[in-house]
Amino acid sequence: MPIHILQPQVAAQIAAGEVIERPASVVKELIENSIDAGATDIRVEVREGGRSLIRVQDDGRGIPAAEAPLAFQRHATSKIDTLDDLDRLRTLGFRGEALASIAAVAGVTLVTRWHDEQVGVMLRMMDGREAAREPRGGPAGTVLTVENLFASMPARLKFLKQPATEAGLIQQIVTRYALAYPERRFSLVNDGRQAFQSTGSGKLYDVLVRVHGLETARQMLPVGDVGAEPRADDAPTGIRVTGYAGVPGLHRSNRSYITLFVNHRWFQDSTLTYAVVQAYHTLLPTGRFPVAVIFIEVDPAEVDVNVHPTKAEVRFSNGNAVFGAVQRAVRETLTAHAPVPRFGAEPAPGAWAGAEDWAARREALLGAGRRDYRQYPLKPELGDALVPGGPDDMPAKVPLLRVVGQMGATYIVAEGPDGLYLIDQHAAHERILYEQLMRQHATQTLAVQALLEPLVLETTTEQQPFIAAAMEALKEWGIAIEPFGAGTYLVRSVPAILAREDPHGALHELADGLAQEANPLEAARESALVTLICKRAAVKGGQPLTMPEMQEMARQLEACESPRTCPHGRPTMIFMSAADLARNFDRT
Ligand code: ADP
Ligand code: MG
Repeated sequence: MPIHILQPQVAAQIAAGEVIERPASVVKELIENSIDAGATDIRVEVREGGRSLIRVQDDGRGIPAAEAPLAFQRHATSKIDTLDDLDRLRTLGFRGEALASIAAVAGVTLVTRWHDEQVGVMLRMMDGREAAREPRGGPAGTVLTVENLFASMPARLKFLKQPATEAGLIQQIVTRYALAYPERRFSLVNDGRQAFQSTGSGKLYDVLVRVHGLETARQMLPVGDVGAEPRADDAPTGIRVTGYAGVPGLHRSNRSYITLFVNHRWFQDSTLTYAVVQAYHTLLPTGRFPVAVIFIEVDPAEVDVNVHPTKAEVRFSNGNAVFGAVQRAVRETLTAHAPVPRFGAEPAPGAWAGAEDWAARREALLGAGRRDYRQYPLKPELGDALVPGGPDDMPAKVPLLRVVGQMGATYIVAEGPDGLYLIDQHAAHERILYEQLMRQHATQTLAVQALLEPLVLETTTEQQPFIAAAMEALKEWGIAIEPFGAGTYLVRSVPAILAREDPHGALHELADGLAQEANPLEAARESALVTLICKRAAVKGGQPLTMPEMQEMARQLEACESPRTCPHGRPTMIFMSAADLARNFDRT
């Protein structure tokens, strides 16, 4: 094919691909326009995950009737004139691309009335061209309706996820803007159902409650002087950091609960996310991440928002200063409000909880003048003598065990007829609970605890599709759960083993765990659910146990079908035979 210039419609569709990736991108662009128009009430409605319909209605200043067709031209904007204006940018938009892009890939109807005009205008765009225009009365403000997104682009359509997933992404966008603009009201209606609403009270905390739920919001601490107007003398660097950060006890299995904004614009940045995580250094168990909503304010000249097609990333002229400011602000909040916990955190690999204590005790015992046993290094072969899972030559059972004591509040030391057993208390308890639960389920005697008052579980957008899919499995395993609207569920019962402590935290962990389960098969989901329940209910490493508790655990482990591995297949115990011990002490 010879070189030729693409048809305008094709070129427009290709260019649109940069900005409009999926329904959530349309929602993002339309909300940004409403915010830039000074709207205080922004209503979003979507159908079928935004595929068939997206409508954003605002009470902003509107568009003058004569300018309406221009709004759909590429590079047509009312927000900047020259490149220098970017250094003073106070608006979210500036490229004049969004409406043109959306009109290239969907049917668009604009109804708008400029606040200073008597009559408004209705303008319909089809295939990127004007299809109808007529005067229209109505309140000042703008309604943009986008229909049949990507209808003419099968390749794009194929790439879209399930409507529920797309709706989830849309909700994520709406909640981000609600957080960034607490003084404006946002609402989202999904397939006729109210999915989210903020009050516009101006209080960030109120929005936090709507986004994360009361239970989580209560565990969040203010960072900086939230709510106060920025002052010139706030920070010598001109960088201001505010927001909310969770107490260390509130943690999640991934980083997605850390939300960043710069000058009221959401953005993603792994370095600054790391700055937040860093501020929690030593306060969180390994592999766990905090919940935080962080607002950074800088001079617009100090941040380049024009480096990413959808503006999801930005570049700071002094990245190090911003990193330091974020880390400091969060750390200050944590040290001011939250004491460092002693136990509860999982021990770092290679150490065990209470290791420092133990070292100190040992030093005291050894005392001055005594020989330090460390002068006698263990024989190198000792490593080979330790057998994970137990001795090979016996059936998968364990013999009667005599508990000797607990080590590092994490391992149970026990003696068997054939040698020494070191038992991982968490893994062993997981195994015990797993077999208990399976047995009860098989004999239809599952111990279920009805809750006195139904528990309200607020879930995140990511968790929702997984909970919906696992509804049957949850019921099957004692969690009576029903949708209660706007991403909340009523939980009326839980398995008895989860009832003892904080069922709310337990359910949250289950929801997160389900969202992580990659295998969509019903059976896989169910077995993931059962192991998750056991994991949560089992005693943790770092938890001191009494002698009777350990004896009971040993007794239950002896009764297990497969006592040597936990439900995930990891060993519950390490074994060293009496013969190996003797050999290592040169007794033979
Ligand atoms: P940009 O936001 O980058 O200027 P858009 O294509 O998103 O580009 O919008 C083009 C123009 O249309 C805007 O500059 C603005 O003047 C006008 N506009 C779009 N949406 C609205 C709205 N909801 N209220 C008022 N004006 C709007
Ligand atoms: Mg725009």
